[in-house]
Amino acid sequence: MTLPTIAVYNPTGARKTLWRIAQVGGLIATVVLLLGLMAQPDATLNVLWNVVVPVLPAVFLVNPLLWRNACPLATLNKLTGDRAGTRRLPAQGATWAGALGILLLYVMVPARRVLFNVDGTVLAVTIVAVALLAIVGGVFYSAKAGFCNAICPVLPVERLYGQHPLGDVSNARCYPCSICVGRGCVDLSPTKSIAQTFGQARRSRRWLLTPFGVFAASFPGFVLGYFTTVDGPLSTAGAVYLHIFLWAASSYVVVAALSLLRPGRNQELVTLVAAVAVGSYYWFVSPTVVEAVGLPAGSVTLLRVAALALIAVWLVRGMSDVLGNQRHQDAVAA
Ligand code: SF4
Repeated sequence: MTLPTIAVYNPTGARKTLWRIAQVGGLIATVVLLLGLMAQPDATLNVLWNVVVPVLPAVFLVNPLLWRNACPLATLNKLTGDRAGTRRLPAQGATWAGALGILLLYVMVPARRVLFNVDGTVLAVTIVAVALLAIVGGVFYSAKAGFCNAICPVLPVERLYGQHPLGDVSNARCYPCSICVGRGCVDLSPTKSIAQTFGQARRSRRWLLTPFGVFAASFPGFVLGYFTTVDGPLSTAGAVYLHIFLWAASSYVVVAALSLLRPGRNQELVTLVAAVAVGSYYWFVSPTVVEAVGLPAGSVTLLRVAALALIAVWLVRGMSDVLGNQRHQDAVAA
């Protein structure tokens, strides 16, 4: 059976070659990372968590496709997903798979404090397990529906920070788009992904009860909770999870209260929570980045100012898009 497809911009020539190089480079970098975690765990963990990972939120603000086009896990997912025929993930399945991805994120990030920040072997085994998950997901669902658009734990962050991309980047993996997922594909449209993920709930306060709504409202507190804990032995895991959970729950309550005070302003709130979360992240991570790169201590302020300036530009652009949409909807309703 031939299913409908959506034609998307097909990069050609040098652009296509560059994305191919980036995708192969991503796979090679992953192998180097795994070897480094086994042979030189301390240095590799330092570079990974304090240099490489802090670049990603800023990349998502510019455009999440900059990462998604090159992500090594997406490359592995597509390797098998492109051979999975027409097995699409329906909208309801995407919602629940997305909820599982959020759960994975909320389990794995606190685990950094007691495992992944300090134990290279455990992190290497986890990366291999997640890579296998991406490959196996592609056996069951076509294109990126078995992992990247489903249970990937980074997807909710890409969706949240990528909702108002500052630059245009075309999808370098799917041409044509086979509509592998029922709704909310970030690669197809980062700006529509959240609204599609909420579905009808976006028109009322019910967005707060959807899996992505729970994530978005709790995420600023989750980030603050993570950075107000410290690395420790496995025996401190319970305290770390409880601490981060309480911060995330408090954040949810505050955002829910704001939603009650400002009914019909869901898009504004979701834009604002993204800015608060990513701003908090860069505020706290800047000192460790500066230390890891070996810059003078005064560079912390510079890095914070640079990050906050990028976020301010993103916020102004995002709010102007949201208010423009709002005016359009009001005019249509009038
Ligand atoms: S990942 Fe997105 S763009 Fe690619 S085939 Fe699936 S729905 Fe289409």
